[in-house]
Amino acid sequence: MPLRNRSELATKFTYNPHNETWQTHKVRVVVDKKPFAQGGMRVCMKLYELEDSGDFVPCVAKVFKKETNSKEYFDEALTQMAAECFAQEFNKLKTKWKVSFLPVNVMMLNERNGQLCNVEPLLLGDYVKHNDNDGNVETSEQLPQAFTHFTWEASRHMLIVCDIQGLADCYTDPQIHSIDGQSFGRGNLGQHGILKFFKTHKCNRICQALKLPPTDRKIADRQV
Ligand SMILES: [Zn+2]
Repeated sequence: MPLRNRSELATKFTYNPHNETWQTHKVRVVVDKKPFAQGGMRVCMKLYELEDSGDFVPCVAKVFKKETNSKEYFDEALTQMAAECFAQEFNKLKTKWKVSFLPVNVMMLNERNGQLCNVEPLLLGDYVKHNDNDGNVETSEQLPQAFTHFTWEASRHMLIVCDIQGLADCYTDPQIHSIDGQSFGRGNLGQHGILKFFKTHKCNRICQALKLPPTDRKIADRQV
């Protein structure tokens, strides 16, 4: 069946950082029935958003596996947008290294009892996870680890952006651990998460090139 005939109504929530509100508008989408991937907490379905031009834009819709508060979806999107702000700060350093996070919004599928999902563009290729939210380093890539360290300095020791994963240097699904443990959704493990990162982080040549202060031993040696 042509995609157009399978389309359904959805409400798209897009965050406006200038007045800190979510703006809504109606869109038509087609959602694949079966997930094509899943993470620890969410499943991923392909979603196609119908544009005014008549084209369908391929996206990924992520839905929590467990019944969850609607706030979780908005927190996930805000976390990824906050991470992108740090990516833009990082890119302003004008080094040869650039990072970015995918743009993300929240959608409500009106014809499915208002099911919510997080939606971002679909990138084709192999997703790689570089570090997690519990201090584990999962690849030998230096940029993701240096970026997480950078966020600690750029935030004036208020938070780190971790759980760095994605396609090449374009990331998605980050977690943010903040000193006060507030905001940024369920994945915010607060100081515990920050300490876990610094326990395993070894400054690499990118950290050095960025002149990031070496990992504070007082942080790294603290008991967690
Ligand atoms: Zn470092």
